[in-house]
Amino acid sequence: MQILDGKLASKAIKEDLTNKILELKNAGKKIPHLAAVLVGNDPASETYVASKVKNCNEIGITSTLLRFNDSISEQELLQQIQQLNANPDVDGILVQVPLPKNISEKKIINTISPEKDVDGFHPLNVGKMVLDLPTFISATPYGIILLIQHYKIETAGKQVIVIGRSNNVGTPISILLSRNATYGNATVTLCHSRTKNLKELCLQADIIIAAIGKQKFVTADMVKENAVVIDVGINRIKDVTKKSGYALIGDVDFENVAPKCSYISPVPGGVGLMTIAALLMNTYKACVNY
Ligand code: NAP
Repeated sequence: MQILDGKLASKAIKEDLTNKILELKNAGKKIPHLAAVLVGNDPASETYVASKVKNCNEIGITSTLLRFNDSISEQELLQQIQQLNANPDVDGILVQVPLPKNISEKKIINTISPEKDVDGFHPLNVGKMVLDLPTFISATPYGIILLIQHYKIETAGKQVIVIGRSNNVGTPISILLSRNATYGNATVTLCHSRTKNLKELCLQADIIIAAIGKQKFVTADMVKENAVVIDVGINRIKDVTKKSGYALIGDVDFENVAPKCSYISPVPGGVGLMTIAALLMNTYKACVNY
């Protein structure tokens, strides 16, 4: 069994980007600039945004963090986004979700200029992704693809089960893996809460991608020998032994599933780190109009 080490794979991507950004700098060209928007004080969102900003700084991407009280109105936030759209120095805009209930995420995402939508959530970019046109692929599915590529995992002709059909993870990764591309050409089944015989389907899978949001949902009796298991889940559980007071665990019962796998991604240290690497890639691409 080999670990799909997100730390290792994201390090390689970050080193490559660091060099590319240095080249831009040395040539007197524009340096990528990410504007991250955070509304309110949700602890998980605070952690995610802080980590994204820290990673930008590490590799030479300029970052601006715009923080707003959760009392900000939808109209005010829309204006802030429009200002970022109009600012030629800003290449990428990221709005951390979830947003307060009085603000429509859909409206906010639709207002981000598609050319600066490094999260790849704008309907135009989602449409381009479906049609296999150049675009920003949203960070988590893109991160999974980068992890698969880093470890040279064969996907062509493989049976893939994706569990979870969310717009930001399950649905896009099922599309990406099924299309005619070097990391695609798989036969993908997209499962959800209404799927019948999930265990039987999983037992046939060469690759399982778990994006459910339920801790230890995928158990050893659902996984065939030598399968590849990619765990997207991030579930916070109380843990008094940790300084933060919580621990992160995935959607896969790692301890019991891992011995059966050829490859498995851990939580933390797997897809989460690749998601950030993918966001950095998108921000670089936004700057160089790649
Ligand atoms: P989501 O929007 O809550 O979707 C969950 C999906 O799981 C839904 O499609 C749901 O089916 C399905 N599901 C729920 N119970 C099920 C069951 N018993 N059997 C089969 N399917 C079931 O979740 P998400 O946003 O994709 O996130 C999933 C997990 O990934 C969460 O833990 C989240 O924190 C994590 N995540 C991690 C990253 C990262 O960077 N690593 C990024 C994004 C999300 P229905 O559609 O039928 O309700």
